[in-house]
Amino acid sequence: MNIYDVAIIGSGPGGYVAAIRCAQLGMKTALIEKYSTLGGTCLNVGCIPSKALLDSSHHYDDAVKHFKEHGIDIPGDIKVNLEQMIARKQAVVDQTTGGIDFLMKKNKVDVYEGLGSFKDATHISIDGKEKTEIEAKNVIIATGSKPSSLPFIKLDKERIITSTEALKLKEIPKHMIVIGGGVIGLELGQVYRRLGSEVTIVEYMDRLIPTMDSALSKELTKVFKKAKFKVNVSHKVKSVERNGNEVIVKADNKKGEEVEFKGDYCLVSVGRRPYTDGLNLDSAGVKMDDRGRVEVNGHLQTNVPNIYAIGDVVKGAMLAHKAEEEGVFVAETIAGQKPHIDYNLIPGVVYTWPEVAAVGKTEEELKEAGVSYKVGQFPMRALGRSRASMDTDGFVKILADASTDEVLGVHMIGARVADLIAEAVTAMEFRASAEDISRMSHAHPTYAEAVKEAALAATDDRALHV
Ligand code: FAD
Ligand code: NAD
Repeated sequence: MNIYDVAIIGSGPGGYVAAIRCAQLGMKTALIEKYSTLGGTCLNVGCIPSKALLDSSHHYDDAVKHFKEHGIDIPGDIKVNLEQMIARKQAVVDQTTGGIDFLMKKNKVDVYEGLGSFKDATHISIDGKEKTEIEAKNVIIATGSKPSSLPFIKLDKERIITSTEALKLKEIPKHMIVIGGGVIGLELGQVYRRLGSEVTIVEYMDRLIPTMDSALSKELTKVFKKAKFKVNVSHKVKSVERNGNEVIVKADNKKGEEVEFKGDYCLVSVGRRPYTDGLNLDSAGVKMDDRGRVEVNGHLQTNVPNIYAIGDVVKGAMLAHKAEEEGVFVAETIAGQKPHIDYNLIPGVVYTWPEVAAVGKTEEELKEAGVSYKVGQFPMRALGRSRASMDTDGFVKILADASTDEVLGVHMIGARVADLIAEAVTAMEFRASAEDISRMSHAHPTYAEAVKEAALAATDDRALHV
């Protein structure tokens, strides 16, 4: 039987990054994955394919709506070739997952294909094309998550679908009903809206992206309504039925009245659930919490000292970069180091256009905590760069402590803010004040100038270009 210093179950961004770091630190490492491709949800049916379709549909949208104004005439009709769009997306996925195979070989990580399940705390059986068993001094559970649903919904995966199916549709829906106005609903809703579908969003809470700063929700809702999305907030979905090619969604609105939506596809995007099926956690004595997650302490260690857990299967934001940080954290902990993660500084991004990005505390959270703060906000439309590209929606909003000027939260919506948020993370990691940011030179013309201007606005209401 092969014996390892570390065995990692699950090859998503948590698991494969943990494997690389363990190998770098000199540990004999095994990575177990039940599917034939590595990379987990993120690379196969999550971050990468969704961004590939967002990029393709954005090009199409630009061609249809903006090329003429830019002085580009395309003779004849501009058409979508969905089959090619999906094929390109798959090529991007294949290239990316292939890259993980390369990284595992380069780092001499042994990869096992098959379902990993605990025999006891140090032995894992692997059920793949062949059955095998390995022994490991330490185990990292990185089994991720799966789409969740509502108890009364029967996902048929044809017309009542999750994100996984929405990434490989064979036709453009005429009318897609999206249940859940969170990240997946908005990103994939935007893909199909751009391709011509009517898109109706039905959200339970009183605003879209309800966990983000409410100013971001308000601005994104405005843009989505302008793009003719039908947005229904404060709607509690109570039934979803299929009748032939038609899907009927019934919900109660704020007043308690029943509202009916009819479409040809229904995307259910109401969150994801931690995935531990088949792991046989009982045999190892690993405890779960009351929400089905693997319970861990501040060192990401389970109640069984040699078993750790990371990523979507434990508490915290379900984000690829959070899983990656945790993978590195556990590898370094096992190696005897003292790593650190500041969960307050894990940025959140929605890759719609305009993009939405945030780090730190929201205004609602500061109010609730009774912190006195000041706000500096700067509109994208005041930037030369935004006018040049015609991306004038959005703003940057900086929240700083009223007495110390320390930056407590940065909330952005606009072109390329998914990349701009890194500046805010860096500033907050070094506990910068709004004035520190306002005194840094930002290249002109860039979208990043909005960060400097918002910092100026927060410092002493001294933004220059409004
Ligand atoms: P996963 O990526 O879920 O990987 C877990 C792996 O474990 C899987 O490959 C699974 O097959 C394997 N596994 C499970 N059980 C076993 C077992 N018993 N034996 C062997 N293997 C097993 N996050 C972002 O940060 N940015 C984004 O843009 C983004 N976009 C997304 C878009 C969509 C449509 C979706 C669905 C998610 C998106 N996410 C995004 C979330 C991101 O994909 C997850 O947070 C991330 O993949 C979690 O990583 P993980 O390693 O914890 O788990
Ligand atoms: P989410 O938590 O972002 O959004 C789910 C939405 O569904 C929420 O707004 C919630 O209020 C709503 N909802 C819940 N029950 C409902 C009901 N009965 N009726 C109507 N609405 C209801 O979850 P998601 O969009 O499914 O995404 C799942 C996870 O994947 C998220 O945790 C997210 O972090 C991750 N993800 C991240 C990205 C990114 O980083 N860009 C992209 C996609 C997914």
